[in-house]
Amino acid sequence: MKLLVPVKRVVDYNVKVRVRADGSGVETAGVKMSMNPFDEIAVEEAVRLKEKGIATEVVAVSLGVAACGETIRTALAMGADRGILVETDAELQPLAVAKLLRAIAEREQPGLIILGKQAIDDDMNATGQMLAALLGWPQGTFASKVEIAGETVAVTREIDGGLETVSLSLPAIVTTDLRLNEPRYASLPNIMKARKKPIETLTPAALGVDPSPRLALVKVVEPAKRQAGKKVGSVAELVAKLKTEAKVI
Ligand code: AMP
Repeated sequence: MKLLVPVKRVVDYNVKVRVRADGSGVETAGVKMSMNPFDEIAVEEAVRLKEKGIATEVVAVSLGVAACGETIRTALAMGADRGILVETDAELQPLAVAKLLRAIAEREQPGLIILGKQAIDDDMNATGQMLAALLGWPQGTFASKVEIAGETVAVTREIDGGLETVSLSLPAIVTTDLRLNEPRYASLPNIMKARKKPIETLTPAALGVDPSPRLALVKVVEPAKRQAGKKVGSVAELVAKLKTEAKVI
């Protein structure tokens, strides 16, 4: 069974993001970029399924500017077999990403597509669900355990109040949650080997998809600065302040 793993290039999770002075978005120039952490978990899960002999091939896909090729190389160094880069300078929103991934799924015919539950840059948490709807495939979102048996996959999902297990018939969509696994670091020999693995480059036009944004970004602003706390001298003073000064925000 072939596995497809979409990997997004995002601002590294260690970077403190800064809003552009004109409020048009987040500053990305000169900022360290990395693979979306939930997508690292997706790649790890796919590679483990291959190591167990359940999957035969892992294909990493990234959509965006040419530098997304680096994100694909990271997936290849972790153990993916080949990559597909859909290169575009257009701003890609989840519906456009889902349409492009649908076109790739139709070409590649994977048994399972494993995405991150959300990209940490825009926190949309929408692409996997939209892709499932477009393909008409079942979906298991927020997965903390994935078990494939024959033509079905059992997905344990992290939901409010506990865990829920759903059984899906393949082909299916899974989105990863934090506790699914701990992604490996790529070893130096595997980074070298990844350089020789193939990456196919496509365009949205070649896939017959118009990626134009459907949503207009109105404004991006920094969160309000937190005010400094005050020290109180006694419990009585604290209670008095809670009664007279504390506000529900
Ligand atoms: P989102 O719906 O934007 O929060 O993203 C959810 C997941 O969709 C990500 O974790 C990726 O697996 C996938 N995804 C979103 N955008 C892209 C992209 N430009 N390239 C590859 N995968 C993407």
